[in-house]
Amino acid sequence: MEEISLYFHIPFCTKKCPYCHFFVVPNNIGSHSDLLEGLKTEWELISPLIENKKIVSIYFGGGTPFLIGSAAIQTILSWIKPSHPVEITLEANPDDITLEAMQDFYEAGINRVSIGIQSLDNPLLKTLGRIHTAQKATESVLLTHQAGIHNITVDLMFDLPGQTLSSWKSTLREVSTLPITHLSLYNLTFEPGAVFYKKQKELSPLLPSEEVSLEMLSLATTSLEKMGLKRYEISAFAKPSFESLHNVGYWTGRSFLGLGPSAFSYWEGKRFQNVCHLKKYTSSLKEKKLPRDFEEKLTPQASLHERFAIHLRLFRGVPRHLYHIQGDLLTRLEKKGWITLSPDTICLTDEGKLFYDSVAEEIVILNSP
Ligand code: SF4
Repeated sequence: MEEISLYFHIPFCTKKCPYCHFFVVPNNIGSHSDLLEGLKTEWELISPLIENKKIVSIYFGGGTPFLIGSAAIQTILSWIKPSHPVEITLEANPDDITLEAMQDFYEAGINRVSIGIQSLDNPLLKTLGRIHTAQKATESVLLTHQAGIHNITVDLMFDLPGQTLSSWKSTLREVSTLPITHLSLYNLTFEPGAVFYKKQKELSPLLPSEEVSLEMLSLATTSLEKMGLKRYEISAFAKPSFESLHNVGYWTGRSFLGLGPSAFSYWEGKRFQNVCHLKKYTSSLKEKKLPRDFEEKLTPQASLHERFAIHLRLFRGVPRHLYHIQGDLLTRLEKKGWITLSPDTICLTDEGKLFYDSVAEEIVILNSP
């Protein structure tokens, strides 16, 4: 039976962070029921697609899906009724987390929580426009664990304006005391649509140098590996058997359906996205119409290269029999020192991991028809 994943985009946030480019809306409690009604209709319209498929992961992302509450999450899970154990992840922010709330989410069926701690340095949290403190961040992880959810992943950011090596070391030291099974590590990027994008000129001189940034990545890798979290993908670290089932699906080309405003789907070789507008999303569903914004089907060649580039992100490598990539492209990547080729597998080298964006560009852009 084909394995698939589901993603639910819950767009509510207490405050928009200046580096964020996701589709989010202010947390208006009055809109929660409209969204839930829209999701129910969308689910009814798309659920025939997943008959005879095996759901292996369900991801509530956003936005801050925590804000819609455990009762709504329980309602959504009751439509799906998975008949076997499934990884069910909820994204949450430290400022919202309480022991009671996490116990309720646990009861509702959540078995993995992703907490956006981002940093454990108060001035940096302020720069990032976060509304929690470092102390609240660590406390939120402990409360989640205490509530019975032991599969906890946190997001951490580096390469931040004004960030120093000593601040980074201290964040890593504190992270190493937390009961986490997984960590996603991101450097700050300036994405169109984010407030920071317009402030790039002002912020760029405050960023750590390239040398310091590399040192930060190396320190993180050493410190996390010491606590048993192995780097298994460009941005992800996990304890053994706690790799994100949902994300591994994305990296290996598993089909997934995204519900909610702005949600992406990848299904039968097609990519589509819902409208990035809450009202348009709910109105379209009131008329029983899927709220699609765009849909595209890549050529077989473009799709092959894109899937190969994404799969390479996984450090265990890409089984060669899955992708028939032309020999000259592989030779070029090997000559640049970015990949190693064995009879069965293609893997990134250390240099390839460092310059992954250039590797992906070479595969996807330079080889597009
Ligand atoms: S970063 Fe997270 S909490 Fe901040 S606005 Fe974006 S989705 Fe909301």
